[in-house]
Amino acid sequence: MTQTTFTALGLSEPLLRALDAKKFEIPTPIQADTIPALLANKDLLGVAQTGSGKTAAFTLPILQHLAAQQIRPAPFVARALILAPTRELALQIDETVRALSINLRLRTVVIIGGASRFKQVEAMRRGADIVIGTPGRVCDLMQTRELVLGAVSQFVLDEADRMLDLGFIKDIRRIVAALPPHRQSCLFSATMPAEVASLANSLLRDPIRVEIARKEETAPKIEQFVHHLAQSGKQSLLLSMLQEEALSRVIVFTRTKHGANKVASVLENAGIQVNAIHGNKSQPQREKALRDFRSGRARVLVATDIAARGIDVTGISHVINFDLPVEAESYVHRIGRTARAGAAGIAISFCDPSERPVLRQIERQMNYTIEVVGDAPPPMTHQPKRPGAPGQAQRRRYNDRGGNRGMRSAA
Ligand code: AMP
Repeated sequence: MTQTTFTALGLSEPLLRALDAKKFEIPTPIQADTIPALLANKDLLGVAQTGSGKTAAFTLPILQHLAAQQIRPAPFVARALILAPTRELALQIDETVRALSINLRLRTVVIIGGASRFKQVEAMRRGADIVIGTPGRVCDLMQTRELVLGAVSQFVLDEADRMLDLGFIKDIRRIVAALPPHRQSCLFSATMPAEVASLANSLLRDPIRVEIARKEETAPKIEQFVHHLAQSGKQSLLLSMLQEEALSRVIVFTRTKHGANKVASVLENAGIQVNAIHGNKSQPQREKALRDFRSGRARVLVATDIAARGIDVTGISHVINFDLPVEAESYVHRIGRTARAGAAGIAISFCDPSERPVLRQIERQMNYTIEVVGDAPPPMTHQPKRPGAPGQAQRRRYNDRGGNRGMRSAA
């Protein structure tokens, strides 16, 4: 664990004051590893997830470079560009940028789909020191010359693996082609499949590579449980679990938008404050859902994977996988919503018989066996009954960690 300070990393006084105000006292490992290199103008390949502190890691050096140059951007011109795969992540990055640039005179403009294009163009009329955007809308404004990228000196591509999953590769290539060759670039990705490595190769010049190991970060802090049951029993199990006050701020993941709406309406009918967030919701609806969830007005947020990607809400007590994700990779992203920035958290998965192959794949990939708290699945082949095999008598409660996790029937 690095024990350096933000001062020792070479950050300027206005940034140190902003960090102080935000109560960021000690740099996270990725911040300690990347900030000095970025201040020295190196390109960066960061293998890290949301939760590592990567946003401040790339934002602080960008702010310091931009402030040092003292240039006013011309109309429609951006000096720095940060690309994120989803609107929510773009808005979260914007929050961090605004908080950390509070003592600097820098203009930030957010350019995302689902929000007023007109207002974004109006904002660009005065130029922007920093544009934070999603690829589709950024390309759109580029085409009409209402966003000019020829003077970008700092470029960040965040969550590159997700960008590719969402089919943004063509947009990204068009955007990169509009950037000047002399620039500083950072690429962050939670995973490094061949396509991301090849994209990184084409974007970065002699980058430093910083990797924050996922297992060390997530495994010890998140307690994971699985409950085996039939699909038809999931709603009542969820309702009965939510009787527990300890489930104070809960994200429930479903596989489909339709499933998210259904679960949300069941909870709403039971008098639980809940919102759903998925691709069919408008941008204002998504923002309201996140606001309500952050403020505690809604206790439960029901989400699909894409909508939840990158959501940074502190104090999430439980992540419930109402359905297991189709891809094992998404499981790690989902449970990473809890246990942010050092806090502990609990993840509970509902697994019906058809989901068992995915569960096995998840466990293989994490090299970790998730504890069974509900009924164990019947053995695949006939085995004599062992005393003490997990079952009804061993159900547990999910509300107190460490000590008495003793059981109460929830089905
Ligand atoms: P990120 O990975 O950028 O999404 O950051 C994850 C969370 O950690 C956010 O809630 C940040 O506000 C918080 N965070 C980032 N850096 C620090 C730090 N040095 N000290 C405390 N919290 C931090």
